[in-house]
Amino acid sequence: MIPRVGIGTDVHPVETGRECWIAGLRWDGVDGCAGHSDGDAAAHALCDALLSAAGLGDLGAVFGTGDPSWSGAHGVELLAEVRSRVEAAGYLLGNAAVQVIGNAPKIGTRRAEAERVLSAALGGPVSVSGTTTDGLGLTGRGEGVAAVATACLVPRD
Ligand code: MG
Repeated sequence: MIPRVGIGTDVHPVETGRECWIAGLRWDGVDGCAGHSDGDAAAHALCDALLSAAGLGDLGAVFGTGDPSWSGAHGVELLAEVRSRVEAAGYLLGNAAVQVIGNAPKIGTRRAEAERVLSAALGGPVSVSGTTTDGLGLTGRGEGVAAVATACLVPRD
């Protein structure tokens, strides 16, 4: 068996006054994202990257937005569920990377903390980075936060 790579993206609209959860962390003083769950685009992109690599479909298929049991779920809870499914399918996380695209929060200020939380949830090393779009598009106007992620899975044995 050879390693398998996967990709995931996500976008959520920013909602004034909503609690902000990005990359598994709560960010005080930053408007959060609306969504069926906590709006953590980084965690969701990572979930999709792992599911993609394992050939297990996507977040919508696994957690369906119509399923009330996942309503308000935090990103790390979704990551834990994805991890268990990926491991049941015979894989372990080699490594993953996620990039958050948006004006806020500033990922670099808490990168190590975010990497610690996401790596613990997935049982393998996760790199976290951030970027802006220089004022362009929905992220540049502050209307939303986007994330793109990749993951490399390795066979368990
Ligand atoms: Mg999402």
